[in-house]
Amino acid sequence: MPTFTPDQLRSLASQCLQAAAVPEEDAVLTARLLVEANLTGHDTHGVRQVPRYVELIRDEAIVPGAPVTVLRETPTTAVLDGHHGLGFVGATRATELAIAKCRETRLSAVGVRNLNHVGRVGAYPEMVAAAGLVGLVYVNAQARGILVKPHGGLAPRMGTNPMGAGFPNPKGWPILLDFATSAVAGNKIRQAHTRGQPTGEGWIVRKDGTPTTNPEDFLEGLAMMLPLGGAQGHKGYALSVMVDLLSGVLAGAGTALAPAKDLNNGTFVICIDPEAFVERARYDRDVEALVDYLHATPTAPGDPPVMLPGEYEAKHRAARLEAGIELEPTVWQDLSACARQLGVALPQPRDAS
Ligand code: NAD
Repeated sequence: MPTFTPDQLRSLASQCLQAAAVPEEDAVLTARLLVEANLTGHDTHGVRQVPRYVELIRDEAIVPGAPVTVLRETPTTAVLDGHHGLGFVGATRATELAIAKCRETRLSAVGVRNLNHVGRVGAYPEMVAAAGLVGLVYVNAQARGILVKPHGGLAPRMGTNPMGAGFPNPKGWPILLDFATSAVAGNKIRQAHTRGQPTGEGWIVRKDGTPTTNPEDFLEGLAMMLPLGGAQGHKGYALSVMVDLLSGVLAGAGTALAPAKDLNNGTFVICIDPEAFVERARYDRDVEALVDYLHATPTAPGDPPVMLPGEYEAKHRAARLEAGIELEPTVWQDLSACARQLGVALPQPRDAS
């Protein structure tokens, strides 16, 4: 598979976005976060999204260079308006503002509405953890059409409504929760389709409730996603409702009841300064002890060691920084076609002769 350095992909993504009228600063930021998704093993939310964003800009669903403005503000809180710009920009500004407020007041919450796809949600709690704070991030994903059925229901009502949390970890990598409150991210179904593979069991059901693993059923609107939790789907559904209340109601992005015509990711960021609760040395000691304790969990013969949330991302980052980022042939084809159309030069894959 064609393999690239992170710099090559950052430059390619940024140039494509700039050629599609995105201002340089926003394009560089978005490209950096897309490549972070590839580096951390979340290819579904990496540079493969560039052609989709370019298309959304052409369709006027994303407004390139839209400002992020403040609608309401107190010393600890704010509500921002992303004016339908690139989601990465609005979500980053909200996270930066929440961090700045938390440094002053030790606890903060910032919501942002009217922004497009924010990509890998984990990027934002990671920023908070890198600042030495605890970050909780909730994103209601009002996609084109509603995708997920409520537990016990037989019609799609909810977005995939992902949530994330980041905790500083003295071992270096943040403890990072980052997942959809549906069985999986919707892009994993699209990825299965591109690969010509079935979906996983328990991801989708047809509209009459019968199970299916055919991604086409979903893409043609004949199937809907299940909430996270399998037979215990009431818990994923409950989490999804909470995300919609925080991002749809408090951030004012609109709930599942008023789905956006295009993809809309209302985002709600909470920051907590751990030192408001315990001394840093004690925080570090207790986190490290918990990590060591969980790592030492016995496993079945032949099974890999138990990991902490966030370690998947840290391990992928270390491996891909070393080996480069492989793109699936179909992803590289789409990205190349998009770049050519925009007049952007293509990088030479590392493994090309
Ligand atoms: P996933 O199933 O890939 O789970 C990822 C989470 O599980 C991470 O916290 C990871 O550290 C942890 N993890 C993975 N393997 C582990 C292990 N063995 N032990 C312990 N922890 C482990 O998540 P998903 O629901 O498929 O979401 C994938 C991506 O899609 C995420 O980055 C998410 O933010 C993104 N997403 C974005 C949107 C949007 O609209 N912006 C919507 C849905 C999902």
